[in-house]
Amino acid sequence: MSLPNRHNPYRFDPYLERRAKIDYYADDPFLQQVVRHFAKGDFARIDAAARAVSQKASYRWRDLADAMARLEQRPTLQTWDAHHRRVDRVLRPAEALTLESEVFSEGLFSRRTDPLTRIVKMFLIYENGEACTACPLVCTEGMVAVLDAHAESAEAKAILEHVKEGRDGRFGVGAQFLSEIQGGSDVPANVCEAVLEDGAWRLFGTKFFCSVAHADYAVVTAKPRGSEAVGLFVAPLWQPGHENQRRNGLTVDRLKWKMGTCELPTAEMTFEGMFAYPVGPLDRGLANVVGVVLTLSRLTVGIASAASMRRAAREAAVYAEFREAFGQRLTGFPMVQAQLADMDRASRRTTAGAFKIHHAFHAPDKDERRTLEARELVMLQKFASSEDSTETIREAMAIFGGHGVMEDFSCLPRLFRDSAVNELWEGPRNVLLAQIHRDLHRASRKLAPREFVTGLLRGADAGVVAPIAATFEELVPLEALPIEACRRWDQACRALVHAYQDVALAEVEAS
Ligand SMILES: Cc1cc2nc3c(=O)[nH]c(=O)nc-3n(C[C@H](O)[C@H](O)[C@H](O)COP(=O)(O)OP(=O)(O)OC[C@H]3O[C@@H](n4cnc5c(N)ncnc54)[C@H](O)[C@@H]3O)c2cc1C
Repeated sequence: MSLPNRHNPYRFDPYLERRAKIDYYADDPFLQQVVRHFAKGDFARIDAAARAVSQKASYRWRDLADAMARLEQRPTLQTWDAHHRRVDRVLRPAEALTLESEVFSEGLFSRRTDPLTRIVKMFLIYENGEACTACPLVCTEGMVAVLDAHAESAEAKAILEHVKEGRDGRFGVGAQFLSEIQGGSDVPANVCEAVLEDGAWRLFGTKFFCSVAHADYAVVTAKPRGSEAVGLFVAPLWQPGHENQRRNGLTVDRLKWKMGTCELPTAEMTFEGMFAYPVGPLDRGLANVVGVVLTLSRLTVGIASAASMRRAAREAAVYAEFREAFGQRLTGFPMVQAQLADMDRASRRTTAGAFKIHHAFHAPDKDERRTLEARELVMLQKFASSEDSTETIREAMAIFGGHGVMEDFSCLPRLFRDSAVNELWEGPRNVLLAQIHRDLHRASRKLAPREFVTGLLRGADAGVVAPIAATFEELVPLEALPIEACRRWDQACRALVHAYQDVALAEVEAS
């Protein structure tokens, strides 16, 4: 009971002080355990790298991410400069420029950085949400991988060197422009045209979703004139020597007004003769962009989803330890205890699963079966974890009551909106579910669907494995899935990811 008090002394200060001190890595023994499990003999080195980057991500970069999220800080488009020169420049707040420069200075894609160190650092960076760094990192990672495999021209090799190792202390930033107005999932339906003129390729046409519109370079899909095959190109987005002054044969027509990833400029662009350099054989562009670029992006969405969940579960726990209702701490209510425990477990299993899938994906000398498993796991995780992330963040927001939806009270509304975007880009759920079905159907002569499931779920409870294996055995042989089977396919794929993540968590916890 309380008596009236016109000078209500209530303060959030103890909560804010506790929250401000949290170190994403040092204060997360579970994450350390995950790193120890996968790093094995390399743990001391990777642990030290994680601690160093966490010192930045948990404080300075967190504050920059929060500051740039304010409404008035959203990126804007400057089409003309004061001297009537067409510049098509994206204006971003100082916080975004600083954060991007500091994060890219980590040299995450350099040959000096091994995959596990990279992913641990990215995990910690992604605890801050998009912040105009997550998407640029993902796009650059895909660009490095595809150029590592296929850069042939001197220009493409120079771009690779800039994004991978930096130049004059600055690392190039990459983008990926595939989606067109008529559809993003159906990349073969691209109509952007590539024309060979005087020995140089130039691109003409429009792209409708161009994130990282401020980037230095982009990988771009386009069809060589007269061909139905999608080619892959890399292009500087500025004329060399005129960076941030003169565009390379393109106009930025509009910046999109988005629900999430608001700090990231996503543009609609028209190419009017943009110089570009082929990446790999031009009749293999689709395979390279899906097999390398999109696959890496999808893998990283899994890591980003886990990082958001970890952050959300922790934010909710810290608030619940502070806030009181009806005379007791929120943590005293069994309902809240159950919700916090569920969020924590969901975030732990998604994290363990994401690291295990990352490990499987980067395993050297994979045979045909391991390659197929890794490819399917990446797609399964992409759709399931991004949706789990949105759900967990929503639950975390609920612990905050009305404050949960206040944009400047905590980072959760921003993470929630970013997570909704993660569900859609890099392949929405249906597209991935359909692709997984096609892949397994095609592979089923060599690998029986049941064997695929039991192989992935080694170590899982037999009662969990049996219904998933039975559904795969029934549905994979079908050429096309009828409506009711689509529902069951969706559920079985989701159950498979969750069972895989549960095994990953048990392995980490037992280590
Ligand atoms: C914030 C944001 C930033 C983005 N940035 C970029 C970027 O930088 N570069 C880029 O190239 N793209 C970008 N995209 C585009 C994104 O990749 C596409 O939105 C996505 O690929 C889906 O394409 P679409 O929007 O045209 O949807 P559509 O392809 O029109 O799909 C619409 C619906 O139909 C479903 N569907 C499609 N095919 C099938 C099928 N075979 N079976 C069943 N259902 C199906 C989809 O699942 C979806 O639900 C971005 C998107 C967002 C939201």
